[in-house]
Amino acid sequence: MVAPMGNMEYEEIHSVGILRFPALSSVPFIRHAFSTRKGGVSQEPFSSMNLNFGRGDSDENVRQNFRIFCDAASISPESLTASAQTHSTVVRRVTKADRGNGIWRPKDRSGVDGLITNEAGVTLVTYYADCTPLFFVDLKNRAIGLAHSGWRGTAARMGAVMVERMKEEFGTDPQDILAAVGPAIGPCCYEVDEPVAREFAKMEDLKPDAFLQKKTGEKYIVNLWEVNRRILLSAGIPAESIVVAEICPQCNSGLLWSHRATGGVRGGMAAMLCIKEEEL
Ligand SMILES: [Zn+2]
Repeated sequence: MVAPMGNMEYEEIHSVGILRFPALSSVPFIRHAFSTRKGGVSQEPFSSMNLNFGRGDSDENVRQNFRIFCDAASISPESLTASAQTHSTVVRRVTKADRGNGIWRPKDRSGVDGLITNEAGVTLVTYYADCTPLFFVDLKNRAIGLAHSGWRGTAARMGAVMVERMKEEFGTDPQDILAAVGPAIGPCCYEVDEPVAREFAKMEDLKPDAFLQKKTGEKYIVNLWEVNRRILLSAGIPAESIVVAEICPQCNSGLLWSHRATGGVRGGMAAMLCIKEEEL
């Protein structure tokens, strides 16, 4: 059964909960998926679909969860290659040689928050629990990108860095990009202190009044969905080619991993994006 959730669709396949964007599902040459907490083998406090290594769950459980999730999402587990996230704006171009990296074998470097490729059969994997997932598809040149953009990445305009890199590597015209802003902590919940708010207030060209609101005291609300949408627009992606999930993990913490809702004792979700191979 497929049910709408925000601007995505939620589906359970063999009890594994998967979120997808209808706009991306309609692109014939790609496959994508965003995981939830449903359908894995991990025990409390990681129950049950934890796709994050290094948070206290066993690597064996996380790998088993990857196998289960990939099976449900019709993605080849061998094709996975993972980010090595540190809230940087470093983007790495990956190829088939990078398959397995960070999942079936230890990651070979640290500090990679964006992945891009134009090779079929290479599945990009990035990790989340409130931070913003950004999906990119160059519909003309058949290239893809996936980025982790938390508040630091967003303040550093990770979305625009990704577009620049896709231009350099694949000759991408931003007009040909279809982009999606995945589940991320929303304006309903994302309260920040002044030092963080100040970083967003600096983004004057994006008109901060649209994504930064002062609350009482020294607290502010940042709308990460909107600021990321505006970053993508400013990078030249047409408004009609940007879809925003409008799904907040903290408001949906039974289904989604939220760092804030769990106080940091948690598992994590993964976004996946690949160009299909002929034989798939
Ligand atoms: Zn919320």
